[in-house]
This record gives sequence, C-alpha cells and structure tokens, in this order.
Amino acid sequence: MRRVLVVTAHPDDVDFGSAGTVAAFTSAGLDVTYCVVTNGDAGGSDRTMSRADMAALRQHEQRAAAAEVGVSDVRFLGHPDGRLQATIELRRDISRVIRQVKPERVLTQSPERRWDFIFASHPDHLAAGEAAVCAVYPDARNPFAHPELLDDEGLEPWTVNELWIMAASDANMAVETTSTVERKVAALLCHKSQISDPAAIIERVTTSSRASGEAAGLPEGSSAELFRVTRIP
Ligand SMILES: [Zn+2]
Repeated sequence: MRRVLVVTAHPDDVDFGSAGTVAAFTSAGLDVTYCVVTNGDAGGSDRTMSRADMAALRQHEQRAAAAEVGVSDVRFLGHPDGRLQATIELRRDISRVIRQVKPERVLTQSPERRWDFIFASHPDHLAAGEAAVCAVYPDARNPFAHPELLDDEGLEPWTVNELWIMAASDANMAVETTSTVERKVAALLCHKSQISDPAAIIERVTTSSRASGEAAGLPEGSSAELFRVTRIP
C-alpha cells in the first residue's frame, strides 16, 4: 500500500469526510492525492463575488487544507458545481486520474442517499460517488473501457484493490483519529469562504468524531472516522 486517491465533488468535502484519516495515512508514509470533481463555484453565500473568483478562491482554500494534512497533489476536474451527473465522461475523467496516480486505495463519497443525514447526500456527492465507484470498477482496470485513455494518452489499465466510502450508513471500518482530529479541524478552517461560524465547525467536528469513536468501541474520548470498505481482487 503506497498510494491513496480521494475523489470528492466539492472543495471541503474531503475535509469533512476524511481529513483525520488522510492525516493518519500521510503520517504513515502513504502518498495521498485529492481529485475534486467540481471547482466549487456554486458555494458560499457572497453574491457580490463573481463565480470565477469563487472557484479560484475555493481551489486555493482546498490546497491550503490539503497541506494541513500532508497532501500536496490536488487535482480539479472542473465539472460544473451544482449540476454534476454521473456521466460516462465523468467516469472517464476519474478513470484517467486513477490510471495516472495508480492508487491501491480509493476513498470517495457514498452514491446512496441517506435519509437520516441528508447533508451527506448533496446530489453532486451522489454523482461523484457513483462515477468514482464505476471508475474503480470496472472502468480503470478494463483496457476496453474509455479506449481513448489507452489509445490516445497511453494510460495503461490500473486495478484499485480497496474502495472506501465516506458517510456510509453501513460502515465496517473505523480509523482512529484521536491524534489527528486537530489537523482535521485546521484543514476545515481553511475553507473560510464556506464557514460563517468557525466555533460551530469545531464543535460539530469534535462531537461527531467522538460519536464515531464511541460507535467503533474505542475508549471514551477517542475520535474516529467511519467508512464502508470493499475489497476488490
Ligand atoms: Zn459537498
């Protein structure tokens, strides 16, 4: 296990869903790449800012947040924020990144809507998750899927062996983040254009991380992030 790719819809999604885990990965010597599918131009509440300026600001914020948890490779696919669909083109674009990065493990968002936690199920998250799952299996490993990747770009098929789904209702893996939750908070606070109340974010992350730690059976006061992990031979 050397390389991990995280695929999310928006700048800040990776930080809410898995920045504590990413910090643990990079501390353990894994290389982590972020692939953010949209440029985040529909985010924030500042109507005076042009959408192009918002996209540029959010990319800057995501790179700063990535640096907080040891990630320097951040790629934006530039799909439109708020209108994302799991098209064959999006599957190809994510497959391209998988073949370039060659990760053994991919983290992404759940393509299944959670009725008990609707904020996790923004339509863009569902679309990014669906396309990423399809890119992991079967597209990236199949030489006959998106043949232009091989024929025109020379990108050989790549097999990802582990798929980790964030905010899944049926988690089967807990990563302890007790020692990294502060870095997760630092990463989240980089997304200044999206945060009106930093103290509320800190409270929310601390509470939810401890609830996940408790759900995982860790000692009282421990923090964790939960995933649904699927191993794919
Ligand atoms: Zn999002």
